[in-house]
Amino acid sequence: MAADTPITQDVMTIPRKLPEGPVNLVGLTRDGLRDALIAGGTPEKQAKMRTGQIWQWIYQRGVRDFDAMTNLSKAYRAELAERFVIQVPEVVSRQVSADGTRKYLVRIAGGHEVEVVYIPEEDRGTLCISSQVGCTLTCSFCHTGTQKLVRNLTAGEIVGQIMVARDDLDEWPEPGEGSGERPRRLSNIVLMGMGEPLYNFENVRDAMKIAMDGEGISLSRRRITLSTSGVVPEIARAAEEIGCMLAVSFHATTDEVRDKLVPINKRWPIAELLEALKAYPKLSNSERITFEYVMLKDINDSDADARRLVKLIAGIPAKINLIPFNEWPGAPYQRSDWSRIEAFADIVYKAGYAAPIRTPRGEDIMAACGQLKSATERARKSRAQIAAETGTGA
Ligand code: SAH
Ligand code: SF4
Repeated sequence: MAADTPITQDVMTIPRKLPEGPVNLVGLTRDGLRDALIAGGTPEKQAKMRTGQIWQWIYQRGVRDFDAMTNLSKAYRAELAERFVIQVPEVVSRQVSADGTRKYLVRIAGGHEVEVVYIPEEDRGTLCISSQVGCTLTCSFCHTGTQKLVRNLTAGEIVGQIMVARDDLDEWPEPGEGSGERPRRLSNIVLMGMGEPLYNFENVRDAMKIAMDGEGISLSRRRITLSTSGVVPEIARAAEEIGCMLAVSFHATTDEVRDKLVPINKRWPIAELLEALKAYPKLSNSERITFEYVMLKDINDSDADARRLVKLIAGIPAKINLIPFNEWPGAPYQRSDWSRIEAFADIVYKAGYAAPIRTPRGEDIMAACGQLKSATERARKSRAQIAAETGTGA
């Protein structure tokens, strides 16, 4: 791309079916899968049973090849292989941090790349997945927000991130092995990678429904956390249509500061956001909301902020997750001092809220919150620059 080509901020969507290519079954809802099979020639009377069988092969067994679906006739398998594919994003690279964190760079249609991070802990393994390439929002402390190119991920690309991680963690049961026999290394999902999940609502919903389906990946809705910057009109809908746990990027206690940090606040300010959050636990039948709060030196980290925060959220069942700011090159903020973070945590804790300080994980491989994609983007930019300088074209 020439350096002066304007880059659009519009979100692109890509059709599931490329002009002459086969249809990808990954990411279709059960109904969608059934419809696709019927459109592909499966007799309607058989469609329900075939949907169940194929669904289990894909999401319970991790099979990618129709030929391995041994409870289907050979002729039917061949028909399926002509019309459909079972495609997940391609893993381009995999890095493992000294602390066991794994970062995958995956390539999706159009050549875009997305990062996926697996964080092992004593009692769980959490996969941090992305919902968009880049983000249309421009939170001033977030590196993803500085990326210009944005496209929504398809449901297949979202659930596909979970599937490639399960491949790497060797989590699919072997033939003959029951689906619940292996200890779960990937036990939790957080939608905290790149993008604003509530701006890609349908695809995120469909992907999470697939991840929760009891005949497949089978993750409980309580083990899935969607993080939003505060897209107020979609919060109730998320409770009703997804029903997972909710985290909110709160980050400030006055509209004046939040307008600067999380500009979506200008559209839906703190009071409106809190109203929507108050209703969430009941609507979704989940216990509490996680308030994410990034600790920025001298910006939002005073004792007065801590006191205002607990006042604001009074009455909402909540946990406050304090995130030490992860710096990136050129970032306009600094991480709060450790003693300041602890003093802030103490006030919140004494007010009766759990206030864990999130330990940055995978820092040596740039896998921490808000750093995703940055290294790749930088690398690509410099390659483009080199190409421009040497006249070889990018
Ligand atoms: N777009 C969604 C989810 C992705 S961001 C959202 O904003 O909620 C996941 C979390 O990381 C958010 O709370 C976000 O505010 C935070 N974050 C972004 N950049 C960060 C950085 N540089 N350091 C620490 N946390 C950051
Ligand atoms: Fe987008 Fe979330 Fe980053 Fe804000 S913090 S720019 S909403 S990814």
